[in-house]
Order: sequence, then structure tokens, then C-alpha cells
Amino acid sequence: MVYLKTDEEVELLRSANLLVGETLAELAKVIKPGVTTKQLNTIADTFIRDNGAIPTFLGYPNPYGSSFPASICTSVNCQVVHGIPNDTPLAEGDIVSIDCGTQLNGYCGDSCYTFAVGEISEDVKKLLETTKESLYKGIEQAVVGHRLGDISHAIQSHCESHGYGVVREFVGHGIGKNMHEDPQVPNYGRRGNGMLLKNGLCIAIEPMITMGTKDIYMQEDHWGIVTRDKKVAAHYEHTVCVRKGQADILSSFEKIEKVLREKSL
Ligand code: MG
Ligand code: MG
Repeated sequence: MVYLKTDEEVELLRSANLLVGETLAELAKVIKPGVTTKQLNTIADTFIRDNGAIPTFLGYPNPYGSSFPASICTSVNCQVVHGIPNDTPLAEGDIVSIDCGTQLNGYCGDSCYTFAVGEISEDVKKLLETTKESLYKGIEQAVVGHRLGDISHAIQSHCESHGYGVVREFVGHGIGKNMHEDPQVPNYGRRGNGMLLKNGLCIAIEPMITMGTKDIYMQEDHWGIVTRDKKVAAHYEHTVCVRKGQADILSSFEKIEKVLREKSL
């Protein structure tokens, strides 16, 4: 069942999503070699609660009867998504995708950003850039009158033209009072196919892109998803509202990227 959101609901979604961006910006300040993903989780959990929200990921159930044990997903290098924060320090040259979800005043925020730890190689930089570009190319298609497949195709064709893999098993999704609502938003598909996009449809668009092949497997913890060839993967996610002419991006990377720019000075 697809629920189109009222303008009031869109503003509630925006508040929850902006808080995710602020949380990720807090993490951006401290990401460096030596920091553990568990430390990042503590900072995120505290920041979300201090801002009157609930970390949606904590306790989120999976089909294996396990509840997610942390407030953010931290996926390092060959981990694609759903990495559980741990005590291993991040090292120079690593990348870490931090996916964060909040629930504020009954509405959900969901956004993800892949961070470089210290200096990363040029080819990994290119993967990050291309994945983020593909997210915005997908968002360009999220307008009234287009179809879901237009979003999917834009992401897939951009990433595959650079020789990267597009993960099939995990997809974007509708979002509202629940973090995961209909419809599913795949990162692969055909132009002109799928559901017609209507005004007020709110979706999380989230390309998960690999340096090598698109094949993945699940780690023994039943959460972490890893590339089969152990090559690195990137993941960027925005929550957007479909509008006429141009989508309204409800999450934001602005504060994150301001911190990153200041760090690089
Ligand atoms: Mg997410
Ligand atoms: Mg999501």
C-alpha cells in the first residue's frame, strides 16, 4: 500500500531527515584513523536522543530473529550495508558508510553517507563520487509523471557505465511513519517501467555500488552484507518527496560536507 503524504507530513519527514544529516555531520567531525565504529555509534545515539528523537535502527528486527544492536549501521570497506559497529579502529585509507535512521514526532528519517578515513586512493575516491552522482541522477527522475523505473535506470546506467556493480538484493523504499513502506525502489531497472510517480510520494533512494562484481553475502552475525570479491562498496541515501518538475530532498548532506570541507583545509 502506497501512502502519499500531505504537506504537513512532508514537513514532519523533513525534520526527522534533517536530524539525520546533523547526526552524520557530528560523526564527520570525529571520523579519523583510530576511531572505532562503536564510538561513532555512541555519539550518534546520544545526539539523536538529545534532539528528542529515537534511533530507528536500534532493535530493528530481521528475518533471522535478531534485533539490530546499534543506532547506526557502519559498513567498512567491503561491507555494503548493515555493518554492526565494533571495537576495530578505523585505519587510514578505509571508507565507512554510515546509515542512520531517526524517528521524530512519529515520522522517520533515513539517510546514508560514505566517508573517507584519512587519505583514500584515487580509484576509491572515484567510486564514492560516482555513487553520489548516481543518487542525484536518480533524484532528478523523482518527479510527477515519471515512473519508478526511470529512477532505477538512471542510477544503474550511470554506475555501470563506470564499470561498477549495482547490488540487487537491497533497494530503496517508501518512507513515512514507518522507515520501510511501499514501494520498493531498486537501483536497477528499465526506463518507463514501474509505478507512476505521484505528488507527495516520499521515498528513500539509496544506491549501493561496488568496485567489482555486484555479488554479496551475509556475514555470520546475520546483518553485515559483504561483497563476494571483497572489493569496496559505497552507499549514499537521501529521502525525497516527489514533486512536479523537481523532487524535494528532505534529508541533507549540507552540514556533513561543510564539516568535510573544513577538515580538509
Ligand atoms: Mg538508510
Ligand atoms: Mg533506507
